[in-house]
Amino acid sequence: MKVLKLSAQGLPQSWISLEQAVLHYAADEVRWEMGARIATFHGGHNAITGNQSIITVNSIIGTKGVPNINPFELKPGLTNSKLFTRDRNVCAYCGGHFFEEHLTREHIIPFAQNGIDSWMNVVTACRPCNHRKSSRTPEQAHMPLLYTPYVPSLWEDFILRNRRILVDQMEFLMAHVPKTSRLLS
Ligand SMILES: [Zn+2]
Repeated sequence: MKVLKLSAQGLPQSWISLEQAVLHYAADEVRWEMGARIATFHGGHNAITGNQSIITVNSIIGTKGVPNINPFELKPGLTNSKLFTRDRNVCAYCGGHFFEEHLTREHIIPFAQNGIDSWMNVVTACRPCNHRKSSRTPEQAHMPLLYTPYVPSLWEDFILRNRRILVDQMEFLMAHVPKTSRLLS
């Protein structure tokens, strides 16, 4: 279970552990909270009052400080896991739905023809389709793409990089996802 850490302005910063979130609370860096309370931590007893300190952690927190991500300059890193999630585990050539271990990162314009490793030149493909297409373009292989690639937005990237997103976190992130996103289809 991860906490979605936002800047004070509400931009996604990172997925952090409950323990990291507690440190933000303890340092009085949490400016606002959203979502549900997901954990309660009991600290030490105050030597004078005898009261025990308690910190409750919410699923989404806004912290003070300068954001370290500029959403307009950010290009999310490309990984197979995020690529397959972007493409919903569907092969771009046969349309089949596969488990991750049967999928590959397919370069639309192959390396052999100077294709590059970027979000706009990759799609998800099953192993047989990737093998059949080989180092040809879709046109050369007569294997038209069933969907088109795109670069995920900052908010989408936060969805793609966490496999266990809580409902309220997902609602927050999805509210900012472009209408063209495949995650909405
Ligand atoms: Zn296929």
